[in-house]
Amino acid sequence: MVIAIDGPAGAGKSTVAKLLAQKLGISYLDTGAMYRALTVKAIRSKVDLENGKALAKLATESQIQLRPTATGLNIFLDGEDVSEEIRTVEVTNKTFYIARAPEVREIMVNLQRAIGHKQSIVAEGRDIGTVVFPNATKKFYLDADPAERARRRMKEMQEKGKIVDEQELLREINERDQKDFTRKVGPLKKADDAIVIDSSGLNVEQSVAKIMEFLK
Ligand code: C5P
Repeated sequence: MVIAIDGPAGAGKSTVAKLLAQKLGISYLDTGAMYRALTVKAIRSKVDLENGKALAKLATESQIQLRPTATGLNIFLDGEDVSEEIRTVEVTNKTFYIARAPEVREIMVNLQRAIGHKQSIVAEGRDIGTVVFPNATKKFYLDADPAERARRRMKEMQEKGKIVDEQELLREINERDQKDFTRKVGPLKKADDAIVIDSSGLNVEQSVAKIMEFLK
């Protein structure tokens, strides 16, 4: 069983996918974390972020592992836990370069398919229902109003003790959406057979409950 969840940044995909996987008793695959982990490696290695071939070489030489924990996933890059580092602003902004390189996407998509062939998963990302698992058991497109997505991000960051400006977050979210929608390979796109869930005004439990209704 593969449950695909795509949608824009901050729509709640990670928290929803995590809880859904827990309720279904299957694994959770955070594909964004894989692109983020390779971004960490690219920054550290000082590889030219505009050079798709060099980035792909780096991807083949890297070991990216997602290890389940009681509360979610820990991300390991070549054996090192980078779960915190992949969420920094620098990595978040630079992941765009990694995600737009067709050569890198091909490698990532193959890795993701291999994970899905071994076990039942809830996979979340941007191209899961369209490219990675076009034959997924069920596909969802989780959306939310940009202003609400910015508010959620702000709350999340405040909980981590970070001071952020809501308008600035909204600007960043709109910019990231634009890049995700217009990428030539694997752009963010609702699959024709995906069910749209608008999570504006819903909490995580409510969003998961809505999805569960369609899975019954
Ligand atoms: O979901 P998350 O925000 O962690 O993803 C980080 C970045 O990775 C996104 O901005 C997106 O550009 C990219 N991504 C992607 N394809 C996926 C998952 C994420 O291009 N399947």
